[in-house]
Amino acid sequence: MGPSAAEPRTFWLETLGCSKNQVDSDKLAGTLTADGMAPASGPGAADLVVVNTCAFVEDARQESIDTVLDLADARRDGARLVVTGCLAERYGDELADALPEVDAVAGFGVPVSLGRRRQHAGASPASFDLLELPRPASPVPWAYVKVAEGCDRGCGFCAIPSFRGPQRSRSIESILAEIDDLDVAEVVLVAQDLAAFGRDQGRGERAIVPLVRAATARVPRVRLLYLYPSDLTDGLVDAVCATGVPYFDLSLQHVSRPLLRRMRRWGSGDRFLDRIGAIRAREPSAAFRSNFIVGYPGETEDDHDRLLGFVAEADLDWCGFFAYSREEGTYAAGLDGTVPGGLVEERLAELRELQDGITARKRDELVGRRVEVLVDTPGFGRSHREAPEIDGVIVVPAALEPGSFHDVTVTAALGTDLEATP
Ligand code: SF4
Repeated sequence: MGPSAAEPRTFWLETLGCSKNQVDSDKLAGTLTADGMAPASGPGAADLVVVNTCAFVEDARQESIDTVLDLADARRDGARLVVTGCLAERYGDELADALPEVDAVAGFGVPVSLGRRRQHAGASPASFDLLELPRPASPVPWAYVKVAEGCDRGCGFCAIPSFRGPQRSRSIESILAEIDDLDVAEVVLVAQDLAAFGRDQGRGERAIVPLVRAATARVPRVRLLYLYPSDLTDGLVDAVCATGVPYFDLSLQHVSRPLLRRMRRWGSGDRFLDRIGAIRAREPSAAFRSNFIVGYPGETEDDHDRLLGFVAEADLDWCGFFAYSREEGTYAAGLDGTVPGGLVEERLAELRELQDGITARKRDELVGRRVEVLVDTPGFGRSHREAPEIDGVIVVPAALEPGSFHDVTVTAALGTDLEATP
C-alpha cells in the first residue's frame, strides 16, 4: 500500500558511523522504497528525514547531535525528522526529551516510517529485524555485508555490547542469498567481532571459515574487516588468502601485555608480530591494517614506547590511532590512572607521524609494480591492499569500466593514493 495523499512520499537518509551502520541504512532505504517512497534529492526536499546515528564514543555522539540539529534546520516545513541507530537505541527517551525538534526516536527494529505520524517514545510499534531485511542493489561494484549483530566480548573501553546486544549471527544461507542479490565484484564482510561468526549458534569455533569459502565461490573478491587477533587461526588465514584479497584488518587496540589485560583483551606485541610474520611468510603480498587506542586508563610511558616500537617493527600498511573515550557503563569507566589530555595528544601525534612515514614508504615501494585493480568509479580503483572508504585509492584512466578488473602498472605514489596505467 503506497503513501496516501497526506503521507510523506520522499525520504532523506543521513548515515553516520561505521560500515555496519551503512548496511543498516541500505536496508532502511530498502524498506522505505518497498513502502512506495522515493529518495529525495536533498534533506530540504524530503518529506521524511532520517538520521542513522553513531554512539560509539563522545566525538561520534556529538557529531550525531550536531547532524540532527543541522537537519532539523534544513528540513522543509512539515517534514518529519526521525533519529535512529545507536544513539537512539542507547539513549531512547532521554534523547527524545532532549531534542524536541525530533518527531520520533526509533531504536533498532523500530520502523523509521514511524516518522510519518507524530509519535512519542514509549509507543510500541511493529518491529522488524534489520539484520535480515533485504538490500537494494549496490550503486558501486562493492558492498558491505553484515553477517552478525552485537558482540559477546567485554573489552574494557567498549559500550557496544550494551546497546547492540549479544552476538546474533545470520544463517550462511541468508548471507549468500544477499551476496547473490547484491551482484557486486567485491563483498566486504563486517560484524562487531567477525571471526566469532556462528559461535552463538553453536556451529563450532570456526564457522567463519566455511562462510568465507562459500562467499569466495560466488564473488571475485571477499574482504574481511574487524578480526579479533586470537581468532586468526591457520584455517582462517588460508581462507582469507584464497579470497584473492590477502588483506588482514586486525583489531589490536594496543600491544602492551599488562595494558591489554587491563583492557580485558587477549594478546601482546610479540604474539602479534609472530602472527603477522607467519602470514607474510605464507603470503608475501599480504596487506595489514589495525587500530589502536591511546590514553587508556593506566597507560604508562613504557606502554607507549612499546606501541611505538611495535608500529615501527610491524610495518603495517594502514593504522588508525584514537584517543581513549570514557564510556558510561564500561569497565574502564571505573578505572584509575587517567592519562592527561595533553599527553594523549602528544602520544597520538608521535604515533601518527611514525605511521604516516611507514605508509608513504610502502606506497612508494609499489611504484613500477603490477597490481590488479577493481575499478569502483570512473578514474578510481583499488587493489587488494585498499579497503573501500578507509584506505587510499588508485587513480586509473577514466575510460576503464566500473566493475571491471585490470592489471595495471603503478606509475606514481600520491601520498596514500597511487596512480597507475593498464
Ligand atoms: S570486540 Fe570488543 S571492541 Fe569490538 S565490539 Fe566487541 S566489545 Fe567492542
